[in-house]
Amino acid sequence: MQPKQYKDLDPSPRILLGPGPSTASPRVLRAMATPLVGHLDPQFLALMDEVQQLLRFVFQTENELTIPVSGTGSAGMETSLCNFIEAGDHVLIAINGYFGERLYQMANLYGAQVDRLERPWGQVFDPTEIESALKKKKYKLVALVHAETSTGALQPGIPEIAAAAHQQGALIVLDTVTSLGGLPVEIDAWDVDIAYSGSQKCLSAPPGLAPLTVSDRARQMLRSRKTPVANWYLDLTLLDKYWGQERTYHHTAPISMNYALREALRLAAEEGLQARFARHRTNAELLWEGLEALDLSMLVPLQNRLPTLTTPLVPPGVDELVVRQRLLNEFNIEIAGGFGPLKGQIWRIGLMGFSSRPENVLLLLSALEHILSKS
Ligand SMILES: *Cc1c(COP(=O)(O)O)cnc(C)c1O
Repeated sequence: MQPKQYKDLDPSPRILLGPGPSTASPRVLRAMATPLVGHLDPQFLALMDEVQQLLRFVFQTENELTIPVSGTGSAGMETSLCNFIEAGDHVLIAINGYFGERLYQMANLYGAQVDRLERPWGQVFDPTEIESALKKKKYKLVALVHAETSTGALQPGIPEIAAAAHQQGALIVLDTVTSLGGLPVEIDAWDVDIAYSGSQKCLSAPPGLAPLTVSDRARQMLRSRKTPVANWYLDLTLLDKYWGQERTYHHTAPISMNYALREALRLAAEEGLQARFARHRTNAELLWEGLEALDLSMLVPLQNRLPTLTTPLVPPGVDELVVRQRLLNEFNIEIAGGFGPLKGQIWRIGLMGFSSRPENVLLLLSALEHILSKS
């Protein structure tokens, strides 16, 4: 049977202002077209060192075990849990949005006794709340989300929470998927044990790699496991042999994605982290001002609001889906809606990495004004 003749790939030139992927830098896309070398080629091994060094820079860490996990952000999340949880371990998950919920689901799959600490979607935890939960019981690990992409809230007090975890002998896992490269993430200064991210959010490479960093304390915990890691692909004791000194085969590294991530990280280093954070902040403030001028108010109060993901409330009587469809069809702009308890109530506007530009903000604001004035 002959397959149907499909058309040339020719997607519309979208401006990606949703929760990810963000628009990839042309330099990153160009790097992906670089001819392949083998995954054990000395030239690729040298590139791996560069990627690791650049990852340490964006994570602000000296952690030796700092690697791009093959897979999207969720692979980073799963790596962060499956390596440090053994069946029966007590784990605490702070949940104030969808990704906290996902952490909870995953921790359960690995047989942990998981306790939930909850806050309504859109709110953040008072760090002392987490600290007192950690005092009530002996946990092996506590996990939480730094930047909750489902709500637009930024969790404060990470260093205090990390200190409380360590006082009880627990490890702290931090989801930095929507913060890394867009706002301060300081793994060593905050004493975070395990942090993961995604290539397609504030780093603006395509989805496909999950930056991960693991402290020596956590590595020690990994070495003292009584049972093998219940996941072959994401087992850090095996991955460490490829990314560490030995450089022995585990799985074939996604070569082109590593080219992409290297270029994305090089862009971050060229810009400088402080300048990059300031750019994200300035463009977010421009967006907030403009949304307020359109009489839209934000779900998250200013002091806990993410600069990388903004969540305006949908005004009464407006069909949020129609607005999003018109943004996409008439203006080539992608934003997202809310889900879970926030379904139909908010829009989610990402200004991440290469997408965080004043011209994108002004285009979105005028398109929104145009659509809202006629709906
Ligand atoms: C996007 C995201 C993830 C999951 O990443 P995927 O790349 O979709 O697998 C996890 N946590 C947060 C906070 C995210 O925004």
